[in-house]
Amino acid sequence: MFYDEMERERDLNKTVENLERNGMRAVVVDTREEAARYVEDTIPAGASVAVGGSVTLKECGIIDLLKSGKYNFFTPRPTVAPDGTATVSPEAAVANYRAAYGADYYLSGSNAITREGELYNVDGRGNRVSAIAYGPQKVIIIAGINKIVKNLDAAVARVKTVAAPQNCRRLGIESYCAEMDKCHSFFRGGDKAANMTDGCLSNTRICCHYLVSSKQSADGRITVVLVKEKLGY
Ligand code: SF4
Repeated sequence: MFYDEMERERDLNKTVENLERNGMRAVVVDTREEAARYVEDTIPAGASVAVGGSVTLKECGIIDLLKSGKYNFFTPRPTVAPDGTATVSPEAAVANYRAAYGADYYLSGSNAITREGELYNVDGRGNRVSAIAYGPQKVIIIAGINKIVKNLDAAVARVKTVAAPQNCRRLGIESYCAEMDKCHSFFRGGDKAANMTDGCLSNTRICCHYLVSSKQSADGRITVVLVKEKLGY
C-alpha cells in the first residue's frame, strides 16, 4: 500500500469512528454500485423517499433507482417527458419539496465530512439542509472519499473553492466563484480571511444556509455511506 493510500485509509477509519461517536451510522463501500445496492437493500419497497440536489446520487445511479416505481419518490424537480409534456409540473415539484419533510427516507450528498465526524452542508434555498436536520424519519448521506476533510475550517474552504464554484457552473449560475474558482469572500484579505458566511452579494448566491451536523440526539437517524471513489463536487 502506498503512503497516500495508507493516509486515506487512516482518514477514513478516523471519520467512521467519529461519525459513530456522534450518533450517526457509518457504512464504507468500495464502489458507487455498492452504494446503490446498499440503498436498494435498506429502503423497503413502497417507502416514501425524497432527495436533496446531489450529483453524487446521480453518479451512483440512485436517482434512476428511485424513479423505477419501486418507491413513492417525491421528485423535487419539474420534469418534462421527451414529447414535451410535463410529468412533474412546477407546482407539483414545490409540493414535493414540502412533502419531503414527512418522507420515510431522505437521501442526499454532503458538501464535506470532517474527520472529526461532522457533516457540513450549505444551501441556497435551504430545503436540503432543513430536511437533513429535521423531518424525514431516516436520512442516508452518500459521499465519495473526496468529501472527507480535516476539520470544519477545511470544510468551509472546500465549499468556497470546490463545491460552490462547480455547482454554480452546473446550474448555469453566473457568480464570482463560477468565474474565479473561489468565493468572493477571499477577495479582500486572501484565502485565510474568509469566515463561513462571508460571500458575494448576488441575488443568485447559492450559499445562504449553513448546517453543521454534529453529535445527534436522535441516535442512528442519519446513516453516512462513504464510498471509496471520487464522487460529486
Ligand atoms: S457566496 Fe457567492 S461567490 Fe461565494 S461561494 Fe457562494 S455563490 Fe460563490
